[in-house]
Amino acid sequence: MTYYHLFGPVPSRRLGVSLGVDLIPFKTCSYNCVYCECGPTTRLTVERREYVPTDEVIGELRAYLATSPSLDYLTFAGSGEPTLHTRIGEVIGMIKDEFPAYRVAVLTNGSLLTDPEVRHALLRADLVVPTLTSVSEEGFRKIHRAHPSITPGGVVDGIVRFREEYAGSLWLEVFIVPGVNDSDEEVVRIARTVERIRPDKVQLNTLDRPGAVVWVRPVAKERLRDIAAVIRTAPVEIIADLPSRETVGSFHLETSEFILSMIRRRPCTLDDLARITGLHRNEVGKYIQYLLEEGLIEEKIEERGIFFRPRHRGNTPVSNRSAR
Ligand code: SF4
Repeated sequence: MTYYHLFGPVPSRRLGVSLGVDLIPFKTCSYNCVYCECGPTTRLTVERREYVPTDEVIGELRAYLATSPSLDYLTFAGSGEPTLHTRIGEVIGMIKDEFPAYRVAVLTNGSLLTDPEVRHALLRADLVVPTLTSVSEEGFRKIHRAHPSITPGGVVDGIVRFREEYAGSLWLEVFIVPGVNDSDEEVVRIARTVERIRPDKVQLNTLDRPGAVVWVRPVAKERLRDIAAVIRTAPVEIIADLPSRETVGSFHLETSEFILSMIRRRPCTLDDLARITGLHRNEVGKYIQYLLEEGLIEEKIEERGIFFRPRHRGNTPVSNRSAR
């Protein structure tokens, strides 16, 4: 069976072995984040619709889960903001009714949690991970370039409301962009907002793969640790400290080697590699991240985008390198 709305499973830093469920066409979102690994948003919208046929998604999930795959999570994420899909709640409900052994996670930018219908749709998920970056108007606009109807105060209020109504796990992703939301004042404001939201955990994140714009760089790990120390009202996990390659069956060494061989032949963009391999961009991104961390490839910014090229001349296969 060909799966159009599922991708992976991918080894995820945050969620272990995760099967992606993509309900949104590329790249439809209420935000156009400067750090987005999917690249620039082409449809900036807050309109909720049945963007892909729900029956098709449910059919694919039934077929896939009938094989009893070993997964840590089924994760709603992918080519845009998953809560823009009007029937996300039904898909989550089907999984929980028919395959209750599987845990469901929703990665959301949180911007639509102001809508009671969206909050209701996510109630049966086991884990919801909204994003928080900046509560100042300027920082928020600069990072998210959001739909004009969205305000940082509204987003925070929506997440707070959701926390009150939702009994599952809520992890807050705090994404740090150097020069925008890493000042002491911004960090104190973020810490106060964390206190208001009361998440079960904060995941402190920074860029680890090329984003939508070239000026965004990762934050130094030491600074992330300083920021973590300021957030005292919830446990903080620094994502950059977690291994990207879990010891999981879903990490295919052959795929890594194939991608590396393509890059050795000629420098490629993420889109080139997704086209060549037939994999979802998010999935290719995980392998790229691994190859970057292993020092096997490097990125170079060109006019057409970010290209990956081999770092070492020679032919050290991926399999001869140490697995972490
Ligand atoms: S990072 Fe998420 S919220 Fe931001 S533009 Fe990309 S898909 Fe949308």
